[in-house]
Amino acid sequence: MIQINSEFLKLRKSYLFTEIVHRTRAYEQEHPSAKVLRLGVGDVQGPLVPVVIDALHKAVEDMATVERFHGYGLEEGPLWLRQRIADFDYTPLGIHLDTDEIFISDGAGSDLGNITDILALNNRVAIADPVYPAYVDTSVMAGRAGDWMEDHWSDIIMLPCNPQNDFCPALPDETPDLIYLCSPNNPTGTALTYDQLRMWVDYARRVRALIIFDCAYEAFVQDKDVPHSIYEIEGAKECAIEIRSFSKTAGFTGVRCGYTVVPKALYGRAADGRDVQLNPLWLRRVCTKYNGTSYISERAAEAVLTPEGYRQTREQIAVYHHNAQLILSGLQGIGMEVYGGVNSPYIWMRTPRNMSSWEYFDYLLGTAQVVCTPGVGFGREGEGFVRFSAFGMTETIEEAMQRIRQL
Ligand SMILES: *Cc1c(COP(=O)(O)O)cnc(C)c1O
Repeated sequence: MIQINSEFLKLRKSYLFTEIVHRTRAYEQEHPSAKVLRLGVGDVQGPLVPVVIDALHKAVEDMATVERFHGYGLEEGPLWLRQRIADFDYTPLGIHLDTDEIFISDGAGSDLGNITDILALNNRVAIADPVYPAYVDTSVMAGRAGDWMEDHWSDIIMLPCNPQNDFCPALPDETPDLIYLCSPNNPTGTALTYDQLRMWVDYARRVRALIIFDCAYEAFVQDKDVPHSIYEIEGAKECAIEIRSFSKTAGFTGVRCGYTVVPKALYGRAADGRDVQLNPLWLRRVCTKYNGTSYISERAAEAVLTPEGYRQTREQIAVYHHNAQLILSGLQGIGMEVYGGVNSPYIWMRTPRNMSSWEYFDYLLGTAQVVCTPGVGFGREGEGFVRFSAFGMTETIEEAMQRIRQL
């Protein structure tokens, strides 16, 4: 009899986005003339920038010829793209990466879950709270979360992030083996500074833990004291895997391309006590379970990593920065306590009058016809907060802020 992975049965149902849709629809049905403005979206706006569109067309034309047709390539991605990433994304930061330390993926989402294939089941996991739900859910699926104890997982060390600790999780009392950090952060929109990230890198090296560093929003970093890569911190190649994506950098959420860096200086302990390099294990995993990213997406990604591609995509990000600034100043203008929004497209706001996240969601929908995302949906530390997203049309955001100011 076929047996299932019963860990899946432990997964908590995610009510967040279905509940937002449900409540918004119910409101629209009761108020057919209301124009509801959605500031909850976590997806980029189209269209793709011109250099990317040109590269996509050209790659399709390649596929239409005998000479330039591409079938299976290297599972870890073509050399031309890995070299371009090393040269374009890392060399300017003073980081040297060998091409065989870079693995092209179909986005950050897949590798965030896949990476733990090469790690033992009994690794103790630490995750920031509030957080992008993928780290917790993939830990549950892998059987590393233990049991749900009403408001936390028995085997996951949660690291609270809040205004009191400047959204930088404090080092935990219990020692983890595997630490998920996301900076700039979704949902809080805050980012770790060099000093804050150095504290975590030094700690991980001391306890020989592995940091999975998700920097999907790296392209939004503006502050000089916020690193773009964890490898800007000395010693990080010995303790960190960095996961990046073109999704938020270049609007690739529907194109699909990202990459994962597994430095050759990174070692883990095997069951027999030996120290083993992680890089060849990951290569083996990729070659066995992944047959490579689409050639067409890879050519589109290559186009992003050119001076003109950089210019065009940063222009797009500048619009999101502008939107975020409108939200920040709009909310600050009515005396709200807000965070983030500078190095990320998200603004994290404490609800007024001690309202719960969902109470404020209903209040804002009912009075201003504006949709936000209840913070509690990202973890218990998110209760009493809501997230606003700058991914949207500037006019929509201007109108939403005008309505909120008039409340
Ligand atoms: C959007 C996002 C990603 C990107 O996922 P892709 O699979 O690359 O589209 C990764 N991490 C966080 C925190 C995100 O918000």
